[in-house]
Amino acid sequence: MARSTGISDRLPKQPADHRYRAVLLLGAPGSGKGTQGGILKNIPGFFHFSMGDALRNIDIHSPLGKVFYDYTSRGELVPDEYVIKFWAMTLDAHATLGDFKPLADLLVLDGIPRTLNQAKIMEKYIDVLKVIHLVCRDEKVMFERLRRRALKENRVDDADEKVIRRRLKVYEESTKPVLDNYPGDKVTEVESQGSPARVVFDILKVLSPIQDQHYTGVAG
Ligand code: ADP
Repeated sequence: MARSTGISDRLPKQPADHRYRAVLLLGAPGSGKGTQGGILKNIPGFFHFSMGDALRNIDIHSPLGKVFYDYTSRGELVPDEYVIKFWAMTLDAHATLGDFKPLADLLVLDGIPRTLNQAKIMEKYIDVLKVIHLVCRDEKVMFERLRRRALKENRVDDADEKVIRRRLKVYEESTKPVLDNYPGDKVTEVESQGSPARVVFDILKVLSPIQDQHYTGVAG
């Protein structure tokens, strides 16, 4: 049974025919999602939402913070029912505060959906225009990135090799199948080894034509 966490049952107010225009950033832990998301969020016209960051910002002593820590520290996914409601609540708050402008901004979702069930629930609220699949074929590079991040950001889930291995397995089993939810022409694979500038260049080659179709010049 779901624990009481104080998050509301409310899903986004956005009606089904006015879904948020979104692109998804999908990739294994250590594939460079965080680095690329950090660059994209500084470009006008994109609103970058990282589910991992949003969850990490929750007060660890609050009921939801305890649920988050419990799962994340073991390398497990936080159950869908908490994640979806928290995502909806947080995104609504950003839209209300005006830092996310749904009519002007292209929503870049990083780390959500992470299960097929999340993807199905979110279909009512987002229109997925593109999926960027970040791929790093060298496990050594991925481990190195996570180790560096553990030191820099003090992340419990990056510090232990067993937890990292578990996260990579969870990615293969639960998150990779999310790619099959979208038609092949919507999914673009981007090689994430190399300089951040080269990787973001490859991502922008795909996203800037989409942004061009919608950009109103009022974002920022
Ligand atoms: P990484 O890309 O390295 O896995 P994230 O910062 O995206 O890191 O996520 C950190 C942790 O937060 C995940 O391992 C998981 O426990 C939890 N989490 C983030 N997004 C989701 C999600 N959509 N569904 C369930 N759990 C999530």
